Amino acid sequence: MPDKHVVVIGAGLGGLTAAIKLQEAGYDFTLLEQGDRVGGTWAANTYPGCACDVQVALYQLSFAQSMVWTRLYPLQAEIQAYAEEITDRFQLRPNLHLNEGAASAVWSDADKTWTVTTTKGRVIEADAVIGALGQLNRPFWPEIPGLDTFKGPKMHSAAWDHSVDFKGKRVGVIGSAASAVQLIPQVALEASNVGVFQRSANWMIPRNDREITPEEMALMFTIPEKAAEFAAINRKIIYENADYFFWQAFQWTPEGRAFFTRQATDHLNAQVPDPELRKKLTPDYPVGCRRILIADDFYPTLMRDNVDLITDPIAEIVPEGIRTGDGELHEYDILVFATGFETTGWHWSVDVVGQGGVSIEEAWSDGPEAYLGITVAGFPNFFVLYGPNTNLGHNSITFMLERQVEYTMEALHKLEEAGAAAMAPNRAVQDRFNKDLQDRLGKTVWADPACNSWYKTEGGRITQNWADHTRAYADAVAAVDLKDFDLVK
Ligand SMILES: Cc1cc2nc3c(=O)[nH]c(=O)nc-3n(C[C@H](O)[C@H](O)[C@H](O)COP(=O)(O)OP(=O)(O)OC[C@H]3O[C@@H](n4cnc5c(N)ncnc54)[C@H](O)[C@@H]3O)c2cc1C
Repeated sequence: MPDKHVVVIGAGLGGLTAAIKLQEAGYDFTLLEQGDRVGGTWAANTYPGCACDVQVALYQLSFAQSMVWTRLYPLQAEIQAYAEEITDRFQLRPNLHLNEGAASAVWSDADKTWTVTTTKGRVIEADAVIGALGQLNRPFWPEIPGLDTFKGPKMHSAAWDHSVDFKGKRVGVIGSAASAVQLIPQVALEASNVGVFQRSANWMIPRNDREITPEEMALMFTIPEKAAEFAAINRKIIYENADYFFWQAFQWTPEGRAFFTRQATDHLNAQVPDPELRKKLTPDYPVGCRRILIADDFYPTLMRDNVDLITDPIAEIVPEGIRTGDGELHEYDILVFATGFETTGWHWSVDVVGQGGVSIEEAWSDGPEAYLGITVAGFPNFFVLYGPNTNLGHNSITFMLERQVEYTMEALHKLEEAGAAAMAPNRAVQDRFNKDLQDRLGKTVWADPACNSWYKTEGGRITQNWADHTRAYADAVAAVDLKDFDLVK
């Protein structure tokens, strides 16, 4: 039985996966969550229409399958319920501390341990810390003049205000990307008028979502072994298709680009007959450059009488609404910001201080870097989940989280075998890994100078995304090689 104590920061699907695997391996652990519930992304994003863009057969954790899904692409409430359910199923509650964030985590070279201080002032000594803080949970508010002058309610998609009644109201939605295309069709059903402010168009392909049929559900309950077999095959097919997408969309071969450009253009042509509207909805950058959206109800929503697509740039926000660059005032009762998240800055809510008193903010002042997205030179026994360069545009993040947790568990095990207290990646190894990673990213569509996205810093370094298929990531993290690490004995 390992005698190490591990603190896991964050109880999204990443932190929950880590907690389950620590529990199974017999570790003593504390799971800290600053929010009032588990679920992370799916607890925070409660806007109408919020759903996963990966089919649930692949998005749910491979070792914790659920049978209660109602759609191929699960809605937020179902994933949130799933997060709660696995917390109970794996009996994590005794180790889970809600409403108690990690304020700081400080490494001691002398004691070879971490001291984690919580937002409640509790001090926890830990042999290892798992930072499961996610990438997409710091809502981004654009700097628009007059932002605070608007006289009605305003909200970010990631902090939906359910006390606001949208019925019969005039609503301005700023943004037209991943969250916007999910919420606008729902808001348009209630509001008297919706103005959609689009800065740039997005490539969009069909979603083809549907309900899981009663026959499929019946199969699960009547012949569970067949259902399990079918589920495994189904998951594999979805996974393979998703990974293939990488080559098609991001590695940027002419064939792949042509395929997706055609698929998205066909979708637009099929759904939008008006050439003027089609023109406004046609991106002026290559497919794959930003997240490819999947939606079947967004274009039809834009054609509703009560919805306007506005492409004139926003000049300012005024008490009555939004003034565009052409001087026109668009009056609204409610403003919704579907403007995404602060990403490349990696400003964590916890002060992580490693060897020599160097904070992670300092270590990452030129942009975040880790070894395999998981460990960081100078931060012994600090394991990051969904860390730098582990985001995807084509497959399930839960696949990556599972691989990262497996790697972390093996690292802790090998550490014990080696009789060492802690491990941090060797600086040269980390540098080499990142040089190679950036070289490979340089061959993807994201590196195109015409391609601006939340994946890269202003300087052009891609800090969010993995450079390859997810199978290549799985291979890279399949085994922990202690030669890559400086051991603290
Ligand atoms: C709207 C939206 C849609 C998405 N759709 C998809 C999709 O279709 N497919 C896909 O693969 N991925 C999707 N993602 C990405 C999604 O974030 C991941 O799939 C996954 O949920 C990440 O889990 P996580 O645990 O790593 O991070 P999160 O879910 O972000 O969880 C991090 C947790 O850490 C907590 N935390 C932060 N700081 C502290 C602190 N100091 N102390 C304690 N707790 C702290 C937060 O409160 C949060 O609960 C989407 C993200 C968003 C925002």
